[in-house]
Amino acid sequence: MQQTFDVIVVGAGIMGCSTAYQLARRGLKVAVLEKGLVASGGSGKSSAIIRQHYSNELTARMALYSLRVFQHFDEVVGGECGFTETGFVALTSAHDRAGLEANVALQRRVGIRTEILGPEALLEVMPGLNTADLVAAAWEPESGYADPYLTVNSFAQAARREGAQIFQQTRVTGVRFAGGRVQGVDTTQGRFDAGVVVNATGAWGAQVAAMAGIEAPIKSCRVQVGFFRRPPGHEAPHPVVADFVHAVYYRSETGALTLAGLIDPSEAEAVVDPDDFDEQVEPGFVLEVGERIIARYPVMEQSESTGGYASLYAITPDWHPLVDEVPDGSGFYICAGFSGHGFKLGPAVGKMMADLVTGVEDPEFDPTMFRFTRFEENDPVRGQYEYSIVG
Ligand SMILES: Cc1cc2nc3c(=O)[nH]c(=O)nc-3n(C[C@H](O)[C@H](O)[C@H](O)COP(=O)(O)OP(=O)(O)OC[C@H]3O[C@@H](n4cnc5c(N)ncnc54)[C@H](O)[C@@H]3O)c2cc1C
Repeated sequence: MQQTFDVIVVGAGIMGCSTAYQLARRGLKVAVLEKGLVASGGSGKSSAIIRQHYSNELTARMALYSLRVFQHFDEVVGGECGFTETGFVALTSAHDRAGLEANVALQRRVGIRTEILGPEALLEVMPGLNTADLVAAAWEPESGYADPYLTVNSFAQAARREGAQIFQQTRVTGVRFAGGRVQGVDTTQGRFDAGVVVNATGAWGAQVAAMAGIEAPIKSCRVQVGFFRRPPGHEAPHPVVADFVHAVYYRSETGALTLAGLIDPSEAEAVVDPDDFDEQVEPGFVLEVGERIIARYPVMEQSESTGGYASLYAITPDWHPLVDEVPDGSGFYICAGFSGHGFKLGPAVGKMMADLVTGVEDPEFDPTMFRFTRFEENDPVRGQYEYSIVG
C-alpha cells in the first residue's frame, strides 16, 4: 500500500487529533497514523484537569482559549468532551504567597476569571478543608475536568468529518528524507508519502524523532493515579485541588470517586521504556497519596481506595513541549513533550500547529517559546513565579 497526503500526523493522542482536525479544516489532505488505537497513549489516561493557573502569558492564554472550547465543545468541535465545571483551587504556603498573587494578576490580565481567597472564603467553596497552614489560595470558578477518552475520540471524529483519514494499528517505523526534505514514512502497513510529517507521539516523541536522525530531549516517565471512594454524605463533586504544600492534586470522578496524583518534579526520574512498563498502581503510592489528601481534606480518612493505574508523561528538561520544525525547512515537525500538563492545552495546540505548518505570519499562539533549540541556547522556559510544576 502506498498513499500520498499533504500532511502525515504520527500519533492519535489529543495533540495529533486536534492538529489533524485543524489542518483538515483548512482543506489539507491529512493522514493520522497511530500504532494502537485513538487515545491509547497518555491522553486516554490523563486526569484531564482543565485549569487556567499558569505562570506564563502564552500558556495562560492557551489554557483560556482551550477552556472556551471545552465549555462549548459540541458547537465548536462537535460531539462530547465530558467537561464538568467544579471550580479549581491552588493552595500554597506563606513562602509562595507572592508568587501566587503575581500569577493570579497575570492570569487576570489575559482575561481568566480567578481570584485570591483567604481561608474563610476558601472554606465556602470547599467546606471541610484543613486551612491551618495555608496562607493563600487561588480560585477559578470556571475550571474543572473533561473525559479524556471522549475528548480525543471527538477530535478524531471531527477530523474525519473534515476529510482526514485515521489509520489505527499502523506503527511508523521509519521517516524518509531526500535533499533535506521529508518525503514520508514507512509503517507496519506500508509506505505513506507527504511533504509534511508531524511527530505527535508524546512519550514516544524521542523514539520517532530518532527515526529522523534527531535527538529530542523527551523522556518517557511512569506516573501513577489512584482512586478513592468518598464516604457517605460526601458524594457531591468537590472542586479540583492542586495542593502545592502537600504536592498532591485531586479531582472528582463519576461514582463519588476522587482521582488523585502527585505534583512531584522527581517523576522525571522514573524513566521507562514506553512499550514495556508496569501499568499497575503500587500500594505504596496509594498510601502516600491518600495521606497527603487526608492532611488537607480530613473527611477522606473514611474513604476507600478503589485502585488506580500507571501511565506516561513525556517530560522535557523544562517541563514544556517542543513545538517546532526540525531542522528548519525540512517539513518534519515535533509537537511533543507536554510533561504532564498538556491535555488542557490540546485545543490551542492544534491551532498553534496548524498555523505553524501552514505558515501563518502572525499566529494567535506564537510557538517560539517552545522552539527546539532553547536548551542548547540555555534559554529554557521559566515560569515568572514558579512553585513546583505550574507551567
Ligand atoms: C496520568 C496522567 C495524568 C495527567 N493529568 C493531566 C491533567 O490533569 N491535565 C492536563 O492538562 N494534562 C494532564 N496530563 C498530561 C496530558 O495528558 C498529556 O500532556 C497529553 O495527553 C499528551 O498528549 P499527546 O497527544 O502528546 O500524547 P499521547 O496521548 O501519548 O499520544 C501519542 C500517541 O502516539 C502513538 N505513537 C507512538 N509511537 C508511534 C509510532 N511509532 N507510530 C504511530 N503511533 C505512535 C501512541 O500510541 C499514542 O497514542 C496527564 C498525563 C498523564 C499520563
